[in-house]
Amino acid sequence: MKQEKGNLYIVATPIGNLQDITLRAIDTLKSVDFVVCEDTRVTGKLLTHLKIKKPLISLNEFNEEQETYNVIKKLETCSMAIVSDAGTPLISDPGYRLVLEAKKKGFRVIPIPGPSALIAALSASGLPTDKFTFLGFLPKSAIRTQKILNTVKTVDQTIILYESPHRIVKTIEAIKEVFGDINITIAREITKIYEEIFSEKASNLIYKYTKTTPKGEFVVLINRKLNN
Ligand code: SAM
Repeated sequence: MKQEKGNLYIVATPIGNLQDITLRAIDTLKSVDFVVCEDTRVTGKLLTHLKIKKPLISLNEFNEEQETYNVIKKLETCSMAIVSDAGTPLISDPGYRLVLEAKKKGFRVIPIPGPSALIAALSASGLPTDKFTFLGFLPKSAIRTQKILNTVKTVDQTIILYESPHRIVKTIEAIKEVFGDINITIAREITKIYEEIFSEKASNLIYKYTKTTPKGEFVVLINRKLNN
């Protein structure tokens, strides 16, 4: 079945394990006119795996303004899905401007929920899940990072952030500076072969990851209350 013109679907895709895609996500990707994505090679591979052929439009941080305008124009006559390279679009990924503009123009924005690294990590972390603060990626500037961490220093919630392997040591050092040598939970390579979810003192993690640069993608979680 073809989707109605003017509908914009926010489609979550796997964060590692290709089986983590919903039936509704597959149906939606099959039935829209266009798929908006970050990297056409990454989404091309997913669609080939799903045996779906669709025209792709690349929207990323470098062309977001121009492409948002183009996609909004196309929505007048077409249906669209937006996906990111992995997980839920807009969550530390492009698409915010597109959703905002689509809503302003009165188009329907429809979520097709599925994987997101932060929720997967939190649910298996063993840390309190009732309230949490998601900080996304910390800024590169050490001063700005310290400022942000200080604003959540006294919060009785689980703090969640995203990090890449080449910045993980810097981030753990920044956490240690603000929170002390607390336990940090690492969720690495979720849904992939080398998945690990464990807690360790900040100093031990710094030692471990300085000795051998880790591979993969990280979600970092802390909860100040559990360290008192
Ligand atoms: N939109 C995605 C989501 O819903 O989770 C996040 C995209 S963001 C650009 C990429 C970051 O998410 C990575 O640097 C890492 O912090 C986290 N991430 C994504 N996949 C992951 C995985 N399989 N295991 C651990 N962290 C992951």
